[in-house]
Amino acid sequence: MIWQEEIETMNRTGLEKLQLERLQATVARVYQRVPFYRQKLDAAGLRPTEIRNLEDIHRLPFTRKSDLRENYPFGLFAVDKKEVVRIHGSSGTRGKPTVVGYTRNDLARWSEIVARAITIAGGRPGDVFHNAYGYGLFTGGLGLHYGAERLGMSVVPISGGNTPRQIMILEDFQPRGIAGTPSYILNIAETMEQMGRDPRQTSLEYGIFGAEPWSEEMRRTLEDKFHLRALDIYGLSEVMGPGVGMECFERQEGMHVAEDHFYVEVIHPLTGENMPPGELGELVFTSLTKEAFPVLRYRTGDIAFLYPGKCGCGRTHLRMSRIKGRIDDMVIVRGVNVFPSEIESVVMNHPILSPYYQVEVTRQGTLDEITVLAEVSDAVAKDQGGFNPEADLFRRARNELKAALRNTLLISTEVTLLAPNTLPRSTGKATRLVDHRHLYEDSGEGLPV
Ligand code: ADP
Ligand code: ZN
Repeated sequence: MIWQEEIETMNRTGLEKLQLERLQATVARVYQRVPFYRQKLDAAGLRPTEIRNLEDIHRLPFTRKSDLRENYPFGLFAVDKKEVVRIHGSSGTRGKPTVVGYTRNDLARWSEIVARAITIAGGRPGDVFHNAYGYGLFTGGLGLHYGAERLGMSVVPISGGNTPRQIMILEDFQPRGIAGTPSYILNIAETMEQMGRDPRQTSLEYGIFGAEPWSEEMRRTLEDKFHLRALDIYGLSEVMGPGVGMECFERQEGMHVAEDHFYVEVIHPLTGENMPPGELGELVFTSLTKEAFPVLRYRTGDIAFLYPGKCGCGRTHLRMSRIKGRIDDMVIVRGVNVFPSEIESVVMNHPILSPYYQVEVTRQGTLDEITVLAEVSDAVAKDQGGFNPEADLFRRARNELKAALRNTLLISTEVTLLAPNTLPRSTGKATRLVDHRHLYEDSGEGLPV
């Protein structure tokens, strides 16, 4: 094996000792090399030598996305530019991209982390691996690519888009594994069906899906459509890229955090206090081994919880839950917090709807209102001789969806049913939230967190 496999099952005492050593080195490093961190630590009255045990991490100040933007593009790099061999950025899902860099050692380490993640997901050296993540500034494509190569797979760097060609390659090259955003992989399945092909007949056995929130219902749909095992992968450019967390093939219950490289916390987004295991909050990561772009207590804006207890697979690394959503995408309707992923679950459970949806948010006075746009399935529309929203079946479906949403979300929403194939299909990260609130007033940048 290319990495110390025992690290995944190391006892907690040994792991925490390793984390502490690496944390101390990281804090010393950024204090010495990055003026931003030095000023923050000085302002907090904290010297690197005062980090004596892991608990002391809670004394470190948080780093926010706005800090990255203020130091755009290279201000937080901890090495000379000459040592940076790769630059990536966030996909800019929200605003201006943030920029990160990697040394040669960082890339080698990241590749090993991803190679390990692919193995956790059931991948093996020699597998043909269809990588449908976008290649580019976004970390998904190249991150998975280098990891898969490091593992010794035959990587097909297909990237996202040109779906009919993807399908041809998928059928001809016979991959065991596929990676991509869940929404794009679903798009591939749908396109196959439209072409009269059966996605269940592909050679795929496992799928590594992430980069956007998705639900258990989406997992079931993808597993069923392709007859594979769908596994969640988490990561973000600011912390490294994909591979920060990976769900295990054995249990499919939460993503193991690569704790030898990242220290994970879940905090209350408003108070900044640490949340106990099992309780939702904002994920915060500290990198433990990065050279070019170390981060201290980076606030991801992603909402999840840490699982209490050990995973049945035998690995000792902590597990983080599925991402419920980004704080920025949370909508507050009459005091109730709603994430698009909760809406996804309800839409996907309805028998006559297709798995495509969008959530529109508008503001009436000071109140947010949600309209869920959902498509009826192609087969049902054909069966009915076309889609007519006034037809009995569709009126009933609309009312059922409204009721189901009310039951799950505890608020009422508007529902608009649409004809098949009307919502945009993604080739990367899907746009789930269409936010019209800025048309009513400028609410600033998301929530005050
Ligand atoms: P951004 O999308 O913010 O421009 P990145 O391309 O680095 O930046 O993507 C990282 C973000 O993607 C994470 O912060 C998170 O919001 C989302 N993400 C990544 N993996 C997952 C996953 N498995 N489930 C849900 N969301 C994910
Ligand atoms: Zn496990």
